[in-house]
Amino acid sequence: MNRTLLATVCCSVLLPLLCAQDGAKKAQTPGYKDTPVLPSGWCVHDSDRPHPPVVTPAPTGEPVAPPADALVLFDGKDLSKWTGNGGKASWKVENGFMEVNRTGDIQTRDSFGDCQLHIEFATPSPAKGDSQGRGNSGVFFFGRYEVQVLDSFENVTYADGQCASIYGQYPPMVNASRKPGEWQTYDIHFRAPRFDDKGNCVKPAVVTVVHNGIVVHMAREYLGETNHRALPNWNAHGEKGQIRLQDHGDPVRFRNVWIRDLPPEPANGPATPTAPKRG
Ligand code: MG
Repeated sequence: MNRTLLATVCCSVLLPLLCAQDGAKKAQTPGYKDTPVLPSGWCVHDSDRPHPPVVTPAPTGEPVAPPADALVLFDGKDLSKWTGNGGKASWKVENGFMEVNRTGDIQTRDSFGDCQLHIEFATPSPAKGDSQGRGNSGVFFFGRYEVQVLDSFENVTYADGQCASIYGQYPPMVNASRKPGEWQTYDIHFRAPRFDDKGNCVKPAVVTVVHNGIVVHMAREYLGETNHRALPNWNAHGEKGQIRLQDHGDPVRFRNVWIRDLPPEPANGPATPTAPKRG
């Protein structure tokens, strides 16, 4: 084989093969390696960060009825407890659910601090798109601390961006996602961060997330506001803030949203209640 022929074979056969392999690898592991490094040692949205194991949850049950002291934020009928672009929440409401319709994020009219939130969601069926482009939405406490909503049923994305992740910070402990179109539940216990009078964070936000009956974050401390391709940061705010639901362009559905206020802890108190001493 002369040199010209060898070069032709390399360029026309081997190179495309290698590139195709590289492309296939990239397609399987979306994410980044050029983003800032988190305290965990992983880059933000690190494509090499391990994915948590899949745990199939119990089948979808009936909507979880609110307890007596809960404030119902959405009962399937209207968006009167929500605001949106121009002051009006305009997501589609039908058949007992609301659906993202590209009219922008919506926020609760009321503000909340430490709280227990129950929310049910279903990602679009049939599934469309991949990675972050499949069934993306999110629940943001204070409008800034996200628990990710995504279709993570057989849909690979970077680990700190999959469903139930603390976006850009922590993957969930397991992938407890149900199939597209199936109703899923979040039960989220959120402790708001505390700031001193200079605006420094003296106690981070703490979250426990139960996804479809399975605990996926246990008293997890936020590193700051959740960001895309950037390190988390703290920006001081008051004791209460709105809860925001994200319009990421995918027609994700929500139903049965209720919330309970939790008594605040003093700034120097424990992150989670301590059990009484026995004996
Ligand atoms: Mg999101």
